[in-house]
Amino acid sequence: MAVRFTILGSGSKGNCSYLEAGETRLLIDAGFSAKQIRSRLATLGRAPEGLTGVLVTHEHMDHIGGLGRLCSQTGTRIYANRLTVEAIQVKFPTARLEFSLFETGSTFQVGEVDVKSFNVPHDAMDPVGFLLRTTAGAIGFLTDLGHSTRLVVERMKEANLLVLESNYDEQMLQQDIDRPPSIKQRIRSRHGHLSNTAAAGVAVEVAWPLLSQIFLGHLSQGCNSPELARKTVEAALTEAGITHIRVRNTSQDIPCETVCLGD
Ligand SMILES: [Zn+2]
Ligand SMILES: [Zn+2]
Repeated sequence: MAVRFTILGSGSKGNCSYLEAGETRLLIDAGFSAKQIRSRLATLGRAPEGLTGVLVTHEHMDHIGGLGRLCSQTGTRIYANRLTVEAIQVKFPTARLEFSLFETGSTFQVGEVDVKSFNVPHDAMDPVGFLLRTTAGAIGFLTDLGHSTRLVVERMKEANLLVLESNYDEQMLQQDIDRPPSIKQRIRSRHGHLSNTAAAGVAVEVAWPLLSQIFLGHLSQGCNSPELARKTVEAALTEAGITHIRVRNTSQDIPCETVCLGD
């Protein structure tokens, strides 16, 4: 079965990825406008009307910005936990949306994809990460978390491809003059976001022989650079003697190259 995965865009201003496994077509988060998601899917020759569902990690707007319009236009089903669904309904009070609820920590099937959800520490109602298993391999989603936990590391030890948050460089955040101290504090907190150094630590911890690539996602535009994030993670892996993992950047503005699993 053909399994293809494309990060349509990732960063503090919007996150959305696309997974196609046989006939099953899923978005993971919908943090761009519906129009933007439509045009990014079109670069793959796909349209929102063909989606099987949207998996939602949490209700922050950089993850659900286009969800209301996209799903009410197409009738696409939204998969989220109860508290996240309630928050989505508050944000899109007039949208006609179809939900499938899951319990955080549960595993459920959407078409040909086996979805395992797990709790992550972040300042949202009930934020989750996902491990998406297909017949061709598993993809881990680990963005928007203030710190790593044993559970997170355990879950990700099965991923062949990992999307990992690498939000900010400590020094750039420290020196940033645009963000007030309270925001900086929130970003750095145990329920905020992972720094490059913290992401590097997670990468080393979750590295197992069949993890072949890590996409660094959710970069802050003001307090990070793709090169800095990648070099920080690469250096930590090299130092730990791990040489089989390719570290790749993502972009806020353009889709990443599509990865075919199992190739
Ligand atoms: Zn968030
Ligand atoms: Zn986010």
